[in-house]
Amino acid sequence: MPLIKPSILLSFLVLAWPVRAEEQVLNLYSARHYQTDEALYANFTRQTGIRINRIEGKEDELLERIRNEGANSPADVFITVDAARLAQADALGLFAPVKSKLLQERIPENLRTPDWFAFSTRARVIIYNKAMVDPADVQNYEDLANPKLKGKVCVRSGGHPYNLSLGSALIQHLGEQKTEEWAKGLVANFARDPKGGDTDQIRSVAAGECAVSISNTYYVVRLMRSEKAADRKAMDRIGVVWPNQKSFGTHINISGGGMLKTAPHKEAAVKFLEYLAGDEAQAYFADGNNEWPAARGVKVRNPALEALGQFKPDVLNVGLLAKNTALAQKVFDRAGWR
Ligand code: FE
Repeated sequence: MPLIKPSILLSFLVLAWPVRAEEQVLNLYSARHYQTDEALYANFTRQTGIRINRIEGKEDELLERIRNEGANSPADVFITVDAARLAQADALGLFAPVKSKLLQERIPENLRTPDWFAFSTRARVIIYNKAMVDPADVQNYEDLANPKLKGKVCVRSGGHPYNLSLGSALIQHLGEQKTEEWAKGLVANFARDPKGGDTDQIRSVAAGECAVSISNTYYVVRLMRSEKAADRKAMDRIGVVWPNQKSFGTHINISGGGMLKTAPHKEAAVKFLEYLAGDEAQAYFADGNNEWPAARGVKVRNPALEALGQFKPDVLNVGLLAKNTALAQKVFDRAGWR
């Protein structure tokens, strides 16, 4: 018997939700699913009486699904990771502009666009094997292209949104040509062809299969907080650098979301976005994935994250950052960063 595709199964579930006439609901399409999310959503329902129907899936699948559902999509709010993915949804015309004084006040200007908002931030850091690399040699993204590091660099695919967003930032700061030269130098330094995710690179650096890589902070922190002693031991061999502290700052990416143009429950959608920017929700949202809150002045107690220390972030606007990802892909293709 052919298996029922999960997406079809989920469609049935949406239709099967019993909705009482007086009950308010919000249909949330989320590519985030962490332990703290249960409390996050339960508190919203407690505060507003609005029940949340959650559709969870992988980032690209959810976006595809919203596109396929078209005008009939039950989705009110779409939450995903990476500015490039949010920009992609925006470019497809899926988001509706949200005018909210509260969101404007709470979320710093560089972390929002008229259509979507960042709710947490993560940094893309350089990690290195302490026994194999002098940290003085890996203080900037540019350094990873230095022939000094020949055969020492491993990194995930150049086509992955995390690297495309970094490439987009570099294009903004260095220009297209210099970014291409950088990517060529990076590729020339590869210890191996790109494979795996950020966590695989961290493990490879710890094991000495390569000596230096790039990773989002939450992957670093996840291994630092791991219940497995072997993971924590591996992290002892790793040094973390905040890149480009003397120039434009460390590249920041985000997770965030927006209200869909076709949202059947627009009022509830805006309420939910505003709720996500609140102190308590921000703490849950950020801590669920070892990230920093996007809203001003929110504190999170996460010792492993704090252990990484303070740094100067790149303050490039997330909307601007996302705009150059298509160009970044072309540049990386030309440089042979597959
Ligand atoms: Fe990730």
